[in-house]
Amino acid sequence: MKTNNKPPQHTASQKASIESSNSELVDNKRVITVGLVGNPNCGKTSLFNKLSDSQGSIGNYPRVTVEIQEGKIEYKGVVIRIVDLPGIYSLTSTSPEERIGRDYLHSEEADVLLNILDAGNLDRSLFFTTQLLEMGQATVYVLNMIDEAKKKGINIDINDLSTMLNGPVVETNAKLGEGMDDILEAIIKLADKPHEEIHPTILPYDSHLEDAINKVQDLIIKLHPGQMDKHQSRWLSIKLLEGDDELLRREGEHSHLIELVRRARYDLSHSHGETCDSMFADTRYGFIHGLLLEVRTIDEKPDKRMQLTRRIDQVILHRLLGLPIFIGLMWMMFESTFTLGAYPADWIDQGVRALSAGAGDLMPPGLVRDLLMDGMIMGIGAVVVFLPYILILFFFIAMFSETGYLARTSFLLDRIMHIFGLHGKAFIPLVMGFGCNVPAVMATRTIESPRARLVAVLINPFMSCSQRLPAFILLSGAFFPENAGQMIFIMYMISIATAMGSAVFLSKLVIKGGNESFVMELPPYRLPTLGSIITHIGTRAYDFVRMVGGVIVVGSITIWFLQQFPRDITYSVNYESAIVQAQTIPDENKSQLAVADLKDQKEQERMGKSYLGIIGQSIAPLFSVQGFDWKDSVAIISGIFAKEVVVASYGVLYGQDDGSETGSAGLRNAISQSMTPITAFALMVFLLLYSPCLSTIAAIKREAGWSWAGFSVIFSLTLAWTLSALIVSLGGLFF
Ligand code: GDP
Ligand code: MG
Repeated sequence: MKTNNKPPQHTASQKASIESSNSELVDNKRVITVGLVGNPNCGKTSLFNKLSDSQGSIGNYPRVTVEIQEGKIEYKGVVIRIVDLPGIYSLTSTSPEERIGRDYLHSEEADVLLNILDAGNLDRSLFFTTQLLEMGQATVYVLNMIDEAKKKGINIDINDLSTMLNGPVVETNAKLGEGMDDILEAIIKLADKPHEEIHPTILPYDSHLEDAINKVQDLIIKLHPGQMDKHQSRWLSIKLLEGDDELLRREGEHSHLIELVRRARYDLSHSHGETCDSMFADTRYGFIHGLLLEVRTIDEKPDKRMQLTRRIDQVILHRLLGLPIFIGLMWMMFESTFTLGAYPADWIDQGVRALSAGAGDLMPPGLVRDLLMDGMIMGIGAVVVFLPYILILFFFIAMFSETGYLARTSFLLDRIMHIFGLHGKAFIPLVMGFGCNVPAVMATRTIESPRARLVAVLINPFMSCSQRLPAFILLSGAFFPENAGQMIFIMYMISIATAMGSAVFLSKLVIKGGNESFVMELPPYRLPTLGSIITHIGTRAYDFVRMVGGVIVVGSITIWFLQQFPRDITYSVNYESAIVQAQTIPDENKSQLAVADLKDQKEQERMGKSYLGIIGQSIAPLFSVQGFDWKDSVAIISGIFAKEVVVASYGVLYGQDDGSETGSAGLRNAISQSMTPITAFALMVFLLLYSPCLSTIAAIKREAGWSWAGFSVIFSLTLAWTLSALIVSLGGLFF
């Protein structure tokens, strides 16, 4: 993550270079940098995608964008560089994610800002605008979701609005891409305007506040001579008087400035009987209220769809029905993922087998052929089979997110989440964890309280990411073929229960602190478009294929090499002569069986004595309680690098046990003979909970530091080991 800690003021030379950036050239073309700012969920990323033809992640729940992304477009010979920023409610920021947007604004890197407003929710959207106005930057106001506003019967006079804000206003529908040319035109026109001619409307505060602002502003100009223009010094004064911690700290060296601010805040709140910040906020709301009276009319008859949204919410957010409906939908999701996924998985499996048979015939026997057939195709094939399951799972998550249901689940679960010391807001990162823990850990930045955020980061790895799914499907298919769907549902329930349980443990015993309340946004229900669903799933498919191309190829080849070498093994039995002897058995059936048996024993001994066998056997004693063998130990170790390699290693390890059956059915059969169902269940639980993968460890380190990353590894290993040991011991008592 890039954060920019540059102070808002600029030296004269910096200022000059910013002004001249209007004419910055790349390949002899003029470049205009445009920053997208606005509340969460107002359509910034959709607009970004439409403008720049790239694929940011869109979701109908607040705050999906946590990192800055950039795109480019050429329009009428000008290169327009577009930067998508995380959503911001207020510039007196508290959450780190809002700070990213704010620091970007301070850096004045953008030539033009696009302030995206939700036309159906102008009251709220404009609160941020009132603060943006004070920064005095060139801004185009985009009334997005104009379709939704029209449906609600809201009419906005954009000419009046443009006059009142003193800046260009355009109407758009980012979902359908309507109004994009208007935006580009407005950007170019505004960028052509000289800096001195840009005068966003100045909010007038009441006389006492204005007096205080003027006093502070005078002192600031004295303390930073020649560094700030009128707008910047006024902005800084207002923020200081609003009690912005970060700016107060920055100005900390100017003790008499801080003292002046402190005294002014004290005097104002005493003489008015309310806090200084709320006096500022009142003015802002008053401004918005007045402005909307001028520019907005609302047709009396409320839109059918809002009524529909309300009616659906009466059921879905029902006190008693809400939760059962949620659990029912989750169950349906996993059940259909497993049943529907089985068909395409089977076709892929047959395809892989055909490919491997075809390729095997073409190549001369030898080490290279073995490497390709047993190492790569077995390893990759074992994982690719699971692609359909992952896509179906993501289809459901995309549907929930796009219709607006996911945002409601945070609301629904908020009360329950509080029992566990979590925020309703922590729910979306947790659900994202079902996809991949890495972006999910980053998404916790939407939580303001550092304590709640840390808890959300640490429990995220317990959410079963999609890369763990193949192992569950393989093991439950092998050991519980009748109830495979239910087993997977159970794994996800254990995953959620462990995450919640750990949240209680962590917030009660390890990370203590209070709770705070927050506003939860409930977007109206929307019918998802085919395009948005395909984008969601397409991104997943691409990630998965790229992962197969990278991690799994390397993982499978490494494991294959480790189990092929050393080549010169001394066997405990002279298998060759034993085989020759077995071939002389008169009964042909018996003879063949004996030969196959001997070959199998030889292969087992060879693998046991390979490097991989040695590594596996040295770790296996750690799992003697659970009864995991050396092959399981190898799979477990490989999963620390990346969870998806677990199944790939089984594919390689069992790939050559017998020549009769290949593909996923063969793998299932071979595994089903290697342990008891209880041990298999314990193994599934272990694979679910033990150490996060390397990428997730890195993400945790980035969000919370090395010691918490280390804590996460040790905590999860301990938990996984203890639980799986308990399962085997208790299972032993009952069965
Ligand atoms: P961001 O948080 O500001 O980046 O918002 P997103 O781009 O992720 O959009 C939030 C939701 O609003 C998504 O479901 C979009 O499909 C939807 N959306 C965005 N723009 C429009 C629009 O103009 N009309 C309608 N009906 N929906 C929109
Ligand atoms: Mg976004």
